[in-house]
Amino acid sequence: MDVSHLLEDLNDAQREAVTAEDGHVLVLAGAGSGKTRVLVHRIAWLIQVHHVSPMGLLAVTFTNKAAGEMRARVGKLLGLRPDGLWIGTFHGICHRILRMHAADVGLPETFQILDSEDQYRLIRRVIRDMELDEGEYPARQQQGFINHHKDEGRRPEHIEPFDNPHALTQVAIYRNYQDYCERSGLVDFAELLLRTLELLRDNPARQAQYRDRFGHILIDEFQDTNKLQYALVRIIAGDRARLFVVGDDDQSIYGWRGARVENVSDFARDFDPTVIRLEQNYRSTATILEAANRVIANNEERMGKNLWTEGEQGEPIGIFSAFSAEEEAEFVVARIRDWLEQGGAASEAAVLYRSNAQSRLFEHQLLAEGIPYRVYGGQRFFERAEIKDAMGYLRLVHNRDDDPAFERVVNVPARGIGERTVAAIREHARSAGTSLFAAATAMRDSGAFAARAGNAVAQFLEIINDLDRRTRDASLGELMSAVVETADLARWYRQREAPDRAESREENLTELIRAAETFDQPLEDEQSGLSPLASFLAQAALEAGEHQGEKWQDCVQLMTLHSAKGLEFPLVFLSGMEEGLFPHQKSTEEPGRLSEERRLCYVGMTRAMQRLYLTYAESRMLHGQTSTTYPSRFLDELPEELTEQVRPRAARYAGTSFGGGGMSQPGPEHDFNLGSTVSHERFGIGTVVNVEGSGPNARVQINFETAGQKWLVLSYANLERL
Ligand code: ATP
Ligand code: MG
Repeated sequence: MDVSHLLEDLNDAQREAVTAEDGHVLVLAGAGSGKTRVLVHRIAWLIQVHHVSPMGLLAVTFTNKAAGEMRARVGKLLGLRPDGLWIGTFHGICHRILRMHAADVGLPETFQILDSEDQYRLIRRVIRDMELDEGEYPARQQQGFINHHKDEGRRPEHIEPFDNPHALTQVAIYRNYQDYCERSGLVDFAELLLRTLELLRDNPARQAQYRDRFGHILIDEFQDTNKLQYALVRIIAGDRARLFVVGDDDQSIYGWRGARVENVSDFARDFDPTVIRLEQNYRSTATILEAANRVIANNEERMGKNLWTEGEQGEPIGIFSAFSAEEEAEFVVARIRDWLEQGGAASEAAVLYRSNAQSRLFEHQLLAEGIPYRVYGGQRFFERAEIKDAMGYLRLVHNRDDDPAFERVVNVPARGIGERTVAAIREHARSAGTSLFAAATAMRDSGAFAARAGNAVAQFLEIINDLDRRTRDASLGELMSAVVETADLARWYRQREAPDRAESREENLTELIRAAETFDQPLEDEQSGLSPLASFLAQAALEAGEHQGEKWQDCVQLMTLHSAKGLEFPLVFLSGMEEGLFPHQKSTEEPGRLSEERRLCYVGMTRAMQRLYLTYAESRMLHGQTSTTYPSRFLDELPEELTEQVRPRAARYAGTSFGGGGMSQPGPEHDFNLGSTVSHERFGIGTVVNVEGSGPNARVQINFETAGQKWLVLSYANLERL
C-alpha cells in the first residue's frame, strides 16, 4: 500500500514525530508549527503502516469541536471512516467508559450528568436540609470546595482531618452531597473523571481491559490538563501503552481552572519520552509570527522555543484606536465587509474578545450589515439567561399581560413562589380569561393565597408596578438600570453560581444597560409613534430570534480568546486591547495571572494567518462606568516596525481614505460631507462625523451639540445643511 501521502507535506522533525518507533514522544512546540497535524498523521500512520486497529487508539482533544475535526481529518487521510477509533475530550471519554460499566461503579444505567447550575442547586438544598446557616456556608463556596477536592482526586474521607468545626462541616456537606448524588444516580463533571479513575485503579478486570485495548494514547493541548486528567492518563497507560503528547507551555491558558502546565515537565520525568521540537511555523506571515514571539518573550519561566517561518513578510499588524466601543465594532465590521468585497469568505474572519459581554456590539453591527455570524462557545447576547431575565422585567413593566415574561421572572430571584402557587395563578387566569399578572392581582386582592406565598406574590406585583410608576418619565437607560437594580439579579447570580460565571453575567447586565442608554430608535419606529421602550423590546426580540448562522453556512466567527485555542483564520481581530479588560483587571492583582493573560494574547495573535488587527476603544463602559481607558500593555510590547496605526488621529475629519484598503466612502451624491454642519428638527445642530452607504441607504453619523451622537438615514432624516 502506498503510504507516502502520510509523510508528504511534513518537515523532517514532523516526520520524525509521526514515525517514531519506540517509546513515548513529547512534541513541544510553538503555535502553528503543526502539532495537531502531526498528531493526526500519527494516527493514520499507526493504522496504515503498523496495522494498529483503530480500536487500539485513544486520542484526546480539548474541545468537542476539535474532536470532530480530528476525526474528519483522519478519515480523509485514510480514505475511510476509522470505525472504533476513540477521539474525544477527557469528559466525553470518561462518560463513555462509565456508561459501559455503570454497574461496576455502582451507578444506575440511567445515571444523569449534573451541570454546574444543577450542582449548585443541589448543594444549596443539602445545606438547607442540614439546617446550616447559608451565610456561613454559602452554596457557591461549597461548590468550589467540593470541585476542588474532586479535581485533586479526594473523597470526603481523604480530606485531612481538621480540628476546626467549620472545616469539618464543609467536609460533612461534601459527604451529604455525594450521598445524595449516589442515591439519585447523579454525576457532576469532576465526578465523571474521578469515578473513571477509581474504576480503572481499583477494578483489576477493567484496568486490564483498557490497558490491553489502548496500545497508543495521543493527547493534544497537553499543557492544559489538570491533575486528575494526568492521573487518568497514567492509569490507562500502565506500563504498556505508548504515549504521544503534544503541547506548548506558552499556550497554557486554563490555570485559573486548575490546569497544570507542570504536567508537561512531570510527563518528561515520569515517562522519559523522546522530545521533539518543531520550529517552523506554517500558519502565519513572518510579521504576525515575529510580533507574537516578541510579546511572549516578556514572560519569564518559559521552556523556550524557536519559531520561524519561510512564509512571506505579509502586511503590518493593524492597530486601531477607536473613540468608543461602538466605533470599534463599526471599524471591525467595515473591515470584514472589505474582506467580503475582495472575495473573501465570511468564515475566514474571526473576532476575538476577552470577555463575553463584548460580543454584543459586534453582533449588533453585523446584524445591521446583514453579515451572517456565529458566536462560538456561548450564546448570542440577547439569548443569554441573565439578559432574558432582565428583559422579562422590562417586558412586564411595558405590558402586564406578557405571560411568558411573567412565568420567566415571577420567582427569579427566588422569592418563595413555588410551582404550586404558579399553577394556581395559571388556573385562575384560565378560568377568568385574564393574563397571569391580572390573575395574580385578583387573587392577592381576594386573599386567595396562603400567607407566605401571598406575601411573596404581592411583593413581586409591587416590584413591577413600582418600577412602572417610578420610571414613567425616565429615559430607556434609566429604566433599564432601575430594572437591573430592583430585580437584584446580580446578587442572585453571585449567590448561586461560580464566581466566573456570575461575573460574566453581571458584565452582561451592565452591557444591557449600556445598550438601552445608547439605543438609537429607528426613525421608522419613531415615525409610527412607537415608544422607545417598545422599539427596544422589538429589536431585542429580533436580535435574539434571528437564526444563528447554521454550521454549514458561511459565517463570521465570534468567540472568546479562550475558545479560539487550536483554531486558525486568515483574518483575525483582537478587540478590546485595553488595560483592565485585557489584561483582565484581576490578573494585575494576582501573581502569575499576568503571564497567563500574556499567553492568552499569544494564543490570540497566533490564530491569524494573513491579516491581524488589534483594536481598542479610548473609552468603554466597564464595571458599570464609562471611563477613559489605557491601551493594553501588550500593545507596547509589539515592535513598532511591524505595526501600522490604521487610522491616524488627524485623518478623522479629513474625509480621506482610512488607510489600509479604505472604508467604502460615499460618492458625491449628497452634500453631507464629513465635517459639515447640519441641523435636525429635533436634535438641533451637529457635525457630520461619519458617512456610509449610498442611495436610499446612505447614512450619516452626527455629533449633535446637545443630543449626542446619532446615526441617521439621509432619506428620512430631513437634514438641513448649514
Ligand atoms: P496550535 O499551537 O495553534 O494548536 P499547531 O502546532 O497544532 O498549532 P497545526 O494547527 O497543526 O499547528 O498547523 C498549523 C497550520 O500549518 C495548519 O494549517 C497546517 O495544515 C499547516 N502545516 C503544518 N505543517 C505543515 C507542513 N509541513 N507543510 C505545510 N503546511 C503545514
Ligand atoms: Mg493544535
